[in-house]
Amino acid sequence: MTRYRLHIGGEDVDSASGATFDAVNPTTGETWATHARGGAEDVDRAVLAATAAFESEAWRGLSPTRRGRLMMRWADAIADHAEEIAKVEVAANGKLYKEMLAQLRVIPDWLYYFGGLADKVEGRVIPLDRASVLNYTLREPLGVVGVIIPWNSPVLLAMYTLGPALAAGNTIVLKPSEFASASVLETIRLAADAGFPPGVLNVVTGEREAGEALVEHTRVAKISFTGSEKTGAAIASRAGARLAQVALELGGKSPNIVFPDAALDAAEAGVLAGIFAAGGQSCVAGSRALFHREIHDELLERVRARASGVVLGDPMDDATQMGPIANRPQLARVEQMVDAARAGGASVIAGGARASVEAFPGGLWYEPTILDGVGNDAPIAQDEVFGPVLTVLPFETEEEAIAIANDSRFGLASGVWTRDVKRAHRVARALRAGTVWINTYRAITFNSPFGGVKESGFGRVNGAEAIDGYLQTKSVWTELSDEVADPFVMRV
Ligand code: NAD
Repeated sequence: MTRYRLHIGGEDVDSASGATFDAVNPTTGETWATHARGGAEDVDRAVLAATAAFESEAWRGLSPTRRGRLMMRWADAIADHAEEIAKVEVAANGKLYKEMLAQLRVIPDWLYYFGGLADKVEGRVIPLDRASVLNYTLREPLGVVGVIIPWNSPVLLAMYTLGPALAAGNTIVLKPSEFASASVLETIRLAADAGFPPGVLNVVTGEREAGEALVEHTRVAKISFTGSEKTGAAIASRAGARLAQVALELGGKSPNIVFPDAALDAAEAGVLAGIFAAGGQSCVAGSRALFHREIHDELLERVRARASGVVLGDPMDDATQMGPIANRPQLARVEQMVDAARAGGASVIAGGARASVEAFPGGLWYEPTILDGVGNDAPIAQDEVFGPVLTVLPFETEEEAIAIANDSRFGLASGVWTRDVKRAHRVARALRAGTVWINTYRAITFNSPFGGVKESGFGRVNGAEAIDGYLQTKSVWTELSDEVADPFVMRV
């Protein structure tokens, strides 16, 4: 069994209380690692280490170009260790090894891209009315950034913030999810090997108390939170009480709309990928499928047949198509929401219950599930399940599809399947979501902005504009003339 500790000021340390918690492998149901349970005292220690690093010559004195190179060296080290980190992620959250490895192979791109951006942060010279004044702007880092992430793709989601925040020159205290902390620790360790000064990157593992202490710490300039909308709202209000900045990457109930002129093979694959890839434990899950009535029955039957045949099993096995649900509370939530939908009148087209896998009797299995027969106002069509549960809704017209799609408190992602290019872009403009995918789904990369509207959050990760969230602008005024500005002699 692996014993993981906190990472503070460049060292692996125990929590002040000495307390620990277990990491349970959702495939086997067995404990595979223990973590230090960080609390307020540990968060304070980490924030002080990050504050000292922020002020240090070793970090502040580093030119943006050298800072960027450091990030690129870290990227190289992650690329060299992609397989072992991916295996740790699979042990922690049960996602498929092939998916985690694919993710680890692209994660270095975030550090190459934002490392390259570090020395392209430029101020401006402002052409004032008064020509004798030189006015220019400096774009400076915020200080210590607190990063709180969920369990579904820990290293990737951490990188969404670490890339721009480090490139801008900030230092970090990271609180990973209590359900998936190990891969983050393994990755941060490589940063030290790459030459990051101690204290620039700190990790405090723990539960909610550790997250709360980070949000409330007065020396943390900004909180970048990725997780559920409920926690996001609590964090925004606590951070707001001390006037700290927040960026929120929250959940979704994303519509995947199939028009009758769509290429049905591609749409079928896109609907399946939208909800059953990663067992639906994906913020962008296309959990509401909107099928035009003309193709509704055919497409539903196709998707049902595929869902019923999904191979559940060992996430390390190449033949497995869906792994377990990542943790017990999440399995209970999926089960409870599907049962409530059924009790509320939903028809179960596929799945609808826990599953079993002979080789892993202790695993947290749930069947790929498809529900229909409910309106868009049903809780199962409005609330995020974060599991392999698809709700199918019919529509007749483009206007109706847009109205149903937008009738949600979320606005993270959306899919549009059509061969009509005019309709595709008309609908893309009408959808209230941070991302619209046309004839594709679940594509995210380092250089294209990503984030939500409405209760899916605010702020954008990825793409060049992400760095703006981790900089603040200072305006510098210099009088170049020898004129004396006497306050009692006003010039009009
Ligand atoms: P969660 O909100 O329960 O927890 C996320 C993190 O917040 C964890 O580290 C947790 O310990 C911490 N936390 C919990 N309560 C806290 C509090 N009061 N103060 C400070 N920290 C606290 O979410 P989860 O179950 O881990 O993850 C699933 C959610 O994440 C889903 O809603 C999913 O859509 C969302 N998500 C969003 C994105 C995105 O980019 N928009 C990406 C992945 C996941």
